[in-house]
Amino acid sequence: MRHLKAFEDALNSIRDEGRYRVFVDLQRHRGAFPKATARFEDGEREITVWCSNDYLGMGQDDDVLEAMHSAIDNFGAGSGGTRNISGTTRYHVDLERELADLHGKTGALLFTSGYVANDATLSTLGKILPGLIIYSDALNHASMIEGIRRSGVDRRIFRHNDIGHLRALLENDDPDRPKLIAFESVYSMDGDVGPIKEICDLADEFDALTYLDEVHAVGMYGAEGAGVAQREGIMDRVDIIEGTLGKAYGVMGGYIAAHATIVDAIRSMASGFIFTTSTCPVMAAGALRSVSKLRSEEGVKLREKHQASAQLLKDKFRDAGLPVMDSVTHIVPLLVGDPEKCKALSDTLLFDFGIYVQPINYPTVPRGTERLRFTPGPVHDEAMMDELVAAILAVWKQLGLEEAA
Ligand code: PMP
Repeated sequence: MRHLKAFEDALNSIRDEGRYRVFVDLQRHRGAFPKATARFEDGEREITVWCSNDYLGMGQDDDVLEAMHSAIDNFGAGSGGTRNISGTTRYHVDLERELADLHGKTGALLFTSGYVANDATLSTLGKILPGLIIYSDALNHASMIEGIRRSGVDRRIFRHNDIGHLRALLENDDPDRPKLIAFESVYSMDGDVGPIKEICDLADEFDALTYLDEVHAVGMYGAEGAGVAQREGIMDRVDIIEGTLGKAYGVMGGYIAAHATIVDAIRSMASGFIFTTSTCPVMAAGALRSVSKLRSEEGVKLREKHQASAQLLKDKFRDAGLPVMDSVTHIVPLLVGDPEKCKALSDTLLFDFGIYVQPINYPTVPRGTERLRFTPGPVHDEAMMDELVAAILAVWKQLGLEEAA
């Protein structure tokens, strides 16, 4: 086989660094999440999932599933084409209306994932705004980095959440050039939150557009689950809000919400939107049901339960002397600081205790900050948490990590 050696070498260097990825093959059971069955070479095992981004369990919600069953029965499996060529259904249109309304915008546009939404939108902006400069937070997600890189525009990276640095960069550039600031609300690996208001103030001062990734916030923050900008009452100050349907909404897909003219331009020019088969109608139907359910009173209750669950787990980790990282959100990261120990901890929890939490290693996080990232939700009860803490403490000692605790 030609060039196979190069592939083997690449894999070996990833293995040597302890960051070779092994997927756990899961089967979730209706109504039983976070319990699931994992399949291994030597058989199956019942496990508890602690690292799902189906944060609220909506992927198992009866109403969402019912909406999806009905869409399959009436609309079939795939969408049958790009949005332009027979791939638009009533679900796509209604979902876009719902998302625009959720974010208080006049338009919204669906993509096949949040990754594609970021990449396709950001890479297109340079074609629309000649001379554009994009200011990007240093911890922005790979999909934003890729979109900005592909846009070919000048870019400036500001230190994570550092308003002073962002200001200095803005001051240093030609005031007449168009500008856009791209950042996130909830940062998914640390669980901290971007200074949205301060960035919007700077954007006003420097006449810049704002682009906010609310992927880890939609469904979970704000009165209707529109995200942190809604919670802070400043959705109208953010020009483009990007979100996913694959995490708190429990389905799949991504979107942007913005002024209808901005949306129309992206719709007309972004290759990642134009040249691909549109989302399956069943996904759009499920997402529509999920979004509207999370806007309701039921959503409010789920959000309260979610936050309480995250707080309880943080408290239990702290009480047990485990190095839980500072997080002001539902994301609960436990610092391990070594890729091999991080992987060993995760493996032992899985094989010996039936506890599934994926190790997070470089390049997802900087070297030396390897961690386990827990995402407790309304589906995790206190008994599960106590089991989890006891298991971690046992393995922690076994791996000689106790000094850190
Ligand atoms: N933005 C952020 C901040 C993310 O963490 C992710 C995915 N983990 C995405 C965008 C991509 O979203 P999706 O999974 O829907 O592709």
